Parts: sequence; C-alpha cells; structure tokens
Amino acid sequence: MTVQPSPASSTGESTDTTPMIVGRNLQKEYKRGSEPGRIGRLLGRSDPPAVRALDEVSISVANGEIVGLAGPSGSGKSTLLHILAGLELPTEGTVTFQETALNSLSRRERTRHRLEHVGVIFQHFHLLKSLSARANVALPLVELGVSKSERRQRATALLERVGLEDRITHRPGELSGGEQQRVAIARALVTDPKLVVADEPTGELDSETGKRVLNEFRRVAEDRAVILASHDRPTLRIADRVVRLQDGTISDQETEFESTSIHTQGE
Ligand code: ADP
Ligand code: MG
Repeated sequence: MTVQPSPASSTGESTDTTPMIVGRNLQKEYKRGSEPGRIGRLLGRSDPPAVRALDEVSISVANGEIVGLAGPSGSGKSTLLHILAGLELPTEGTVTFQETALNSLSRRERTRHRLEHVGVIFQHFHLLKSLSARANVALPLVELGVSKSERRQRATALLERVGLEDRITHRPGELSGGEQQRVAIARALVTDPKLVVADEPTGELDSETGKRVLNEFRRVAEDRAVILASHDRPTLRIADRVVRLQDGTISDQETEFESTSIHTQGE
C-alpha cells in the first residue's frame, strides 16, 4: 500500500505548512534467528525468514504539529519512530529532515544530526541511575561539547520548566515514575531539538501522572514537530492527527482525533 505524505494539519494555528520531517515509502526488514551456515545449508536449511516491520509507509510532520502513531503491539510504531529519529536506517525508502536526506549521511554524521536536532523519549525513561536528575538532563550537552557552567544552567532551567526545581540533585531511584519521565522529557529538550519522538511515554504512568506529562508535551510541540507512539487513547487525544499502523502499513489517518483538549484535575 502506498500512502502519499499527507499535507500538514490545518487544525493547529501555529503550524508551519513546510514539513519538518518526511518519510517516503519506508520499508524495514529484520532478519530473524541466525544464518544457517555451511553445514546447515548442506542439510538443506534455508535462510531465516525476514520480518517486514514496515512496508511502504509515508509520513510527514510539520513544525508545531503533534502526530500520534497508533496501532497494536508489533504493528511497527517503534520501528517507524527509530527510523524517523535517525536511530536506524530503513531497508528501502528515504527520510528527509528539512533539507537533509538521512541516508546520505555517514554513521558519524547521523549521530551528530540526532544530537543536534532530535530529542528521543522512551517508555522506560533510560536514565542513568548513578547520575542526578540534572546530570542526566545535561548529558547530551556533554557530547555536544557545551561548557560545564552552561550545561548546569540549561539543565536546571529545563528541570524548572517541567516542575522539578526541588528534585535537581535527586537520582532516578529517588524519583517517582512521573518525575523520571519528566526528567527524560527535559533531557530530550535540552539541546532544543526541532523534532521530538516519544515511544509510549505514558505507558508506565498512572492516568493522573500521564495527564501531567501529556500537558508538558503540548508545550513541547509549540515550536517543534512531535511524533508520539501510543496505543493509549487518552494519550493520542493530544495529537493534531493520528496515523494508525497495522502489520507495518498505514491503515488509517485521522485528523482531529476525538477532542484535542485534555483536562488535568487541580490545574
Ligand atoms: P510496535 O512498537 O508497534 O510494538 P515494533 O516496531 O517494535 O512494533 O515491531 C514491529 C515488528 O518488527 C514486530 O513484528 C517485531 O517483532 C519486529 N521487530 C522489531 N524489532 C526487531 C528486531 N530488532 N529484530 C527482529 N524483529 C524485530
Ligand atoms: Mg513499540
């Protein structure tokens, strides 16, 4: 199935119509198991079957837009996020970030591209246990060669922004799940990336904490492109539109997924 990149959402007033990121005809195959080897081949064993995790998927996301990625487990959401983030290359197809074709970059250039332009938020936070919240947030800046004083200042400002000003020196083990996820959001934003991808960011959180984290995403998207994978309906409600995957292909694209407003008690 071929789905043309859809035009930018017409719902978000701040949405710039030029896409920030465009994926065209993306296909991803994973080889499973081990190759049969020479003796295996002599015994008539064939190559392990390849899993096609994505097939002919096209998607584009504009600045100021939140695109939800829906679909059951195994439908290809994480694979698509990783490819758009430049963490993995597709087997076929292209990803263009602004003017840059990611498959034209060397591995080193792709790492640099990610560091400078992409923020990634994982379901399981991926924080370093031995480091404080501030040191975790500052970590991408170490790799970018930012000075220590500026790292501290930027990490502190981000932690304040996500409401963790009194948790700056806490380690992940001393923080709740929602607080750890907010540290992970701060870390994803510390380089001021133009693209933020989040993989099941509320999967580990109770619903109230999840709402707080989602409210933070709305602010994150004000001047960035955000792609949010989830199979959770309340999470997808914050998206301007939702792309639904099924067995590695786009089965449906919805604009105005139910209501775009969420309400957090006590706020
Ligand atoms: P989702 O995030 O929607 O649950 P994934 O993108 O993780 O889906 O997986 C899509 C399909 O690709 C699944 O069938 C999964 O088993 C397969 N897959 C994902 N990663 C790998 C891998 N590294 N090696 C082999 N198969 C994989
Ligand atoms: Mg996944």
